Amino acid sequence: MTETAVTCRVLLVEDIESEAKLVVKHLRRVSGWRYIIEHCERLEAGLERAREDHFDVILLDLNLPDGSGIEVCQRMHAAAPQTPLVVLTNQTSVELGTKALREGAQDYLIKREIDGPLLGRAIRYAIERAKADRALRASEQRYALAVAGANDGIWDWNLREREVYFSSRWKAILGYADNEIADRIEEWFDRVDQRDRETFENALNLHLEGRIGFFECEYRMITKGGDVRWVSSRGLAVRDENGQSQRMAGSMTDITRRKQTEARLLHEAMHDALTGLPNRILFMDRLDLALRRYRRDASKLFAVLFFDLDRFKHVNDSLGHAVGDELLAQIAGRMHGCLRPGDTLARLGGDEFAIVLNDISGPTDAIYVVERLQDALSKEVEIEAHSVYTSASIGIAISADHYRTPDEMLRDADIAMYRAKSSGQATYAVFDTYMHDQAMFQHRMETDLRRALDKGEFDIFYQPIISMDDERVLGFEALLRWHHPTRGLVMPDEFIGIVEETSLVVPIGWWVIERACRQLAKWQRLFPIEPALAMSINVSGKLFLTDDMAKRLASLLEDCNLDPRAIRLEITERVVMDHGDLVLSTLSDLREMGVELHVDDFGTGYSSLTYLQRFRYDSLKIDRSFVATMSDKVDSSAIVEAIITLGMTLGMKVIAEGVETPEQVTRLRAMQCPEAQGYWYSKPLHQDAVNDFLKAGQERTPRHSSAH
Ligand code: C2E
Ligand code: CA
Ligand code: CA
Repeated sequence: MTETAVTCRVLLVEDIESEAKLVVKHLRRVSGWRYIIEHCERLEAGLERAREDHFDVILLDLNLPDGSGIEVCQRMHAAAPQTPLVVLTNQTSVELGTKALREGAQDYLIKREIDGPLLGRAIRYAIERAKADRALRASEQRYALAVAGANDGIWDWNLREREVYFSSRWKAILGYADNEIADRIEEWFDRVDQRDRETFENALNLHLEGRIGFFECEYRMITKGGDVRWVSSRGLAVRDENGQSQRMAGSMTDITRRKQTEARLLHEAMHDALTGLPNRILFMDRLDLALRRYRRDASKLFAVLFFDLDRFKHVNDSLGHAVGDELLAQIAGRMHGCLRPGDTLARLGGDEFAIVLNDISGPTDAIYVVERLQDALSKEVEIEAHSVYTSASIGIAISADHYRTPDEMLRDADIAMYRAKSSGQATYAVFDTYMHDQAMFQHRMETDLRRALDKGEFDIFYQPIISMDDERVLGFEALLRWHHPTRGLVMPDEFIGIVEETSLVVPIGWWVIERACRQLAKWQRLFPIEPALAMSINVSGKLFLTDDMAKRLASLLEDCNLDPRAIRLEITERVVMDHGDLVLSTLSDLREMGVELHVDDFGTGYSSLTYLQRFRYDSLKIDRSFVATMSDKVDSSAIVEAIITLGMTLGMKVIAEGVETPEQVTRLRAMQCPEAQGYWYSKPLHQDAVNDFLKAGQERTPRHSSAH
């Protein structure tokens, strides 16, 4: 016996003394193993020992005084289920041996055939096999536990026998108890939601036919309660040698929550949170759909309506964002009520809405809907004790062959909307080719203007403002000019409107302000007269909407060493009326600084008086159209005189614009108009010409200038 011998404890249960001795003798001869043998003659004694102690193997005779046959094997296996068991039988009872294998024995030996090597091999084999059995059982238990505890349902489909095993969890996902679902495949397939049946079958067949490596499908199932649940199934088929699927097994997971989250995220990505309406993305998608439909069938006319709420900014500024938001939500509801189910109403952002109006027979249909919408919008909206009135300017574009993309159509509806807005509030316009040309022109101008600013193509001319008493020069009005590379000198009336509609309005506006201020500082130094020369600058309303305007101007004036009182900002009546609190607060800040505020083109706007009462201005500029018609048939002298009186009453200066003739000078003097400006005194001048003009000084007699 070597040092490395394996020690093996054997329990031998054998009643016949000679047979027991024989077994012991054989075992002693097995090399490499050292057997420690304990011998019992009766079954009861053997069972007791097997229970108490741990043996590596039990050798069990099935024919004992206190028990015989297969029952002996059963009892021993029950007593020590973990211990490998080898039964010993007579030649006559081979059948008994095989039975024993089913009852937990690892092997059986016929006593007469036993020899050393055979016995040794049988014991070793029994030990190994018991180990393997244990591992297998553990794994089976593990699997059973996993199935029972898993969130996934398990299915195992025997295609041959047409039988399916569904785990409890599989059934529970669909709301069924274990005994409520049979092992037929129909129990599964019949519960697949009608809408997903095709997808499901396709996925299944693709794998069964071997065209895809695994089966995987997300689909809906109908539960016991009739609800819909989203599930994901995965599975793998086992095939025979011909590639035919024999069996397929896999899992089913409840993915309802995930699908709901996905659906919610998708919805959120395509809808506007405030109104719940489709957003721009979804709108463009629907518009694209309508356009495709139209291209297939040109009788499927449709229209795009583009909305912009009039005065929305005013509501937002004066009543606050919460009221603005509520207004949008209510408006959205109202508009929705005017549409048919097939139409799409979307909020594109801010106060912009758009509609795809499907199945119309022509523009008149669209106009009919627009009128209904405008009617609905014109009714008052009640928000937190406020009565708010709105209206919308609406642009209409009708489907046509030349539209290739949704953007083109929306753009045209947008252009039409601008046209509508510029002709007054609560109106609509249908897009036509004239608008298109106009828009193209605007677009080109915009690009040109951007370049003009970058390349320094802008310039300023200065028109003197004269005291009517003594014809002294009081100051100048800065007037923008554009040296266009091909068109030559371009006047502001041709481009200032476009500038106002683009973001260029701010940089160009400040370019003028800065340039004019620096120029004035120079002239004040060269011509130090009393009172100091002043500069009138036309300022777009958009500039007053930037909240740092007053601060920015203050630091510029400081930089130029200019007294703010020498600066006059000319604002049109339109601006004064159109804007809310932000503009008013900027105006107050400017006043505080000492900057003068002049109302330009006075008399051409509406309800001027109301606005003059809201804010105190320093001066009114009588629009040149009134001055020009003073001696005409449509005599405007009365208006001019009224404005001058009004100015004096309210403590404001008055400046007459566009004075061209000595008659006009005489009349204005008679009306005691204090200041004037016009070709009679001087056209707008280039800065170099201004130097000469100022040198001519106070003795200068009225004369015409050759510049413009
Ligand atoms: P406005 O503010 O009313 O400027 C006076 C306009 O009348 C100027 O035209 C001037 O050249 C013209 N004018 C002066 N005297 C006479 C006259 O005796 N007879 C006639 N028929 N016209 C006279 P201009 O320079 O073409 O400017 C047109 C308008 O463009 C200005 O009208 C003003 O509203 C705007 N504008 C000019 N420069 C700027 C600027 O820098 N910024 C802004 N936002 N607008 C500007
Ligand atoms: Ca002006
Ligand atoms: Ca003017």
